[in-house]
Amino acid sequence: MKFNLDEIKTPCYICEEELLESNLLILDKVQKASGAKIILALKGYAMWSTFSQIGKYLHGCTASGLHEAMLAREEMNKEVHTYSPAFKDDEIEQIAKISDHIVFNSPQQLSRFYHKVKLIKPEISIALRVNPEASCSPVDLYNPCAPNSRLGTTIDNFDESLVDKIDGLTFHALCEQNVDALEVVLESFEQKFSPYIAKMKYINFGGGHHITREDYDVDGLIRVIQSFKSRYNNIPVYLEPGEAVGWQVGYLISSVLDIQHNGMDIAILDTSAEAHMPDTLAMPYRAEVRGAGLANEKAYTYRLGGNTCLAGDVMGDYSFDKPLKIGDKIIFEDQIHYTFVKNTTFNGIKLPALALLTKNKQLTIVKNFAYQDYKNRLS
Ligand SMILES: *Cc1c(COP(=O)(O)O)cnc(C)c1O
Repeated sequence: MKFNLDEIKTPCYICEEELLESNLLILDKVQKASGAKIILALKGYAMWSTFSQIGKYLHGCTASGLHEAMLAREEMNKEVHTYSPAFKDDEIEQIAKISDHIVFNSPQQLSRFYHKVKLIKPEISIALRVNPEASCSPVDLYNPCAPNSRLGTTIDNFDESLVDKIDGLTFHALCEQNVDALEVVLESFEQKFSPYIAKMKYINFGGGHHITREDYDVDGLIRVIQSFKSRYNNIPVYLEPGEAVGWQVGYLISSVLDIQHNGMDIAILDTSAEAHMPDTLAMPYRAEVRGAGLANEKAYTYRLGGNTCLAGDVMGDYSFDKPLKIGDKIIFEDQIHYTFVKNTTFNGIKLPALALLTKNKQLTIVKNFAYQDYKNRLS
């Protein structure tokens, strides 16, 4: 299909290959200049129809459990690193079979599963997630180092006898952050764990590095990684961003279904903040709308709302140059990461289709959703 915005059936997410490629080139520059390996965190971005493109540059995926590990193995088939806050007895064997690296969250989990995992796959690499206890995440919902966090082993809970059993240490403490935040975390990590770092085969710096954002200090990151490696005998380093891979690679297109007035103009769309743009409510943040401004910035202001019965299913107030009319397309920018990986069929509303705009501007609808997708999750 030739790309024509007006003819697209909405709601639909469109990922642009060319934009994804430019992110991958930035990430590859970091890999080449710093020697670090970058893997994709599936939790933030899992559009597997693009995995062959991503696999040309990145070294594999990081998975948060069995299903993500299966997807990583089936669709990218490069390195599979699997971490879970707690693995289950009835899943650990299958996870070990398909993973190259398994990352435990606590010494108890490591002791519980170490022998089982090694028996199934003697060459598997074992890592422990540690908690560097340096919190600079902007919101507690996204702060793995907040007080009483369950994510990662603190130095107080670290058990020296584990060192012989593990090949790597991993930390994940950032969220949409720049190099200055990484430096704070790294300093705390080294201050607490440096005697053990030297004994490892690799260190994983986690995700949350906003590497592909315009103002990100890519050269600074390269310097920080190089200097870390030089302090520890050139130890291999991994990064596992999700958001930075899917950052600004596409959008969600919706249509205006109705316009009403209750103290202000309100437009109801065939999408939902709650079901299709969940982080706009959870973080929360305001998604950009193509061609629109803040409330009252342009001549016609509307509250944009979703098509569910949740009162708070509202994207926000936006202004436009012309009055909206039924059937107009509303395009929410940057909706490819942390959206369809989290979507729900709340209220039974239709999941947006997933589409790919290829480098030669052909639009391919890679997935359509229907009633059965709603019904199959219920009984
Ligand atoms: C969420 C997560 C990531 C990816 O984080 P982004 O913010 O998407 O880069 C990486 N590693 C772990 C352990 C995570 O929980």
